[in-house]
Amino acid sequence: MNKKTIKDVDVAGKKCLVRVDFNVPISNGEITDMTRITAALPTINYLKDHGAKVILCSHLGRPKGAVDLKYSLRPVAEKLKKEFFGDSLKFSIDVIGSDARLKVDELKPGEIVLLENLRFHAEEEKNEKWFCKELAYYCDIYVNDAFGTAHRAHASTAGIVNYGFAPIAVAGFLMEKELEFLGNAIENPKRPFVSILGGAKVSDKIGVINSLLEKVDTLIIGGAMAYTFNAANGLSVGSSLCETDKIELAKELMLKASKLEKKLLLPVDNIIADAFSNDANAKIVEGNIPDGWQGLDIGPRSVELFTNEILNAKTVIWNGPLGVFEMPKFKNGTEAIACALSKTAATTIVGGGDSAAAIKASGYASYVSHISTGGGATLEFLEGLPLPGVICLNDK
Ligand code: AMP
Repeated sequence: MNKKTIKDVDVAGKKCLVRVDFNVPISNGEITDMTRITAALPTINYLKDHGAKVILCSHLGRPKGAVDLKYSLRPVAEKLKKEFFGDSLKFSIDVIGSDARLKVDELKPGEIVLLENLRFHAEEEKNEKWFCKELAYYCDIYVNDAFGTAHRAHASTAGIVNYGFAPIAVAGFLMEKELEFLGNAIENPKRPFVSILGGAKVSDKIGVINSLLEKVDTLIIGGAMAYTFNAANGLSVGSSLCETDKIELAKELMLKASKLEKKLLLPVDNIIADAFSNDANAKIVEGNIPDGWQGLDIGPRSVELFTNEILNAKTVIWNGPLGVFEMPKFKNGTEAIACALSKTAATTIVGGGDSAAAIKASGYASYVSHISTGGGATLEFLEGLPLPGVICLNDK
């Protein structure tokens, strides 16, 4: 990680604008998953303890550039006050208006203001220069700790630096941790390096499959994606999800794997069902899937095959469920992979989104080395794409 962090600058008495990722699930005003909030605490606490004036900003949901109180960050402010910061944290009802300015002007070292949802302004996602300049009012030092949005070039993630309004721009601790874990795995993995990719569509993951094939020793493909590969191998897939327009591509990827002498493993058996339902009839098959049946999870022999690879690995990256893990009947494959990750001595990284949710739900989360807070950002990083929210930060 060659980017400066908050430890490389003197923050005492300075206004530090911290882009965090507080895009948390909220139901009836209650936050139902605190992961992203707790992940931001080390940075906030460090800044507070070192006498910075901390201005937090984030997006929440997709309010489409207009004020929509359904997406207000107020519940997050209440939670932060109640659980961690008490009266040292204030909430501003606007982002660039008079309330925000007043509260920021009144900040004392060690105090915090959380601004309202950045995406109440369309200018945030449009990366408008004047909006970046307004944000820069809060900013002697700009800190990006929102890895989950680092793949977007928005005003608060990149524009504020790229337009020259925030010459001092550093990473927070969460950003640093993400870049170290993901960066080390990609650039300097201990081998054998195994990656497991699951999920629904090959088309979403072409880039990452292509790039990981060059880095890993073994690539395991599960989830619905596997059926496109099985079809490319001439197997019938019944009514499983299969992208027929990607069959040629799947063939090319398998050819690439064999040219590079990489192992590309597909499920050798599947749990198939006669409907996309938890109440469907289900059975295990090897090879062809009969008409009228669809594969909704990997079978026990595949679990064994994949588990062995994971147990013998030194680095493992997992992204995407191996089956329809939302339905109890078809969650076994995904849970078994989560279990294997918890048992291996390898460095284990879970790419965000569904796989993060699955490993938490299965109770193995505390046994893996790193659970990424990014979804799209993690995939883009693994694909080797430059992340605008990272490249704009000051080099060491
Ligand atoms: P993605 O967003 O591409 O990672 O896909 C995640 C989704 O893939 C989850 O909602 C899973 O239910 C779904 N999925 C995984 N395996 C299958 C399968 N065999 N058939 C249908 N959907 C699947």
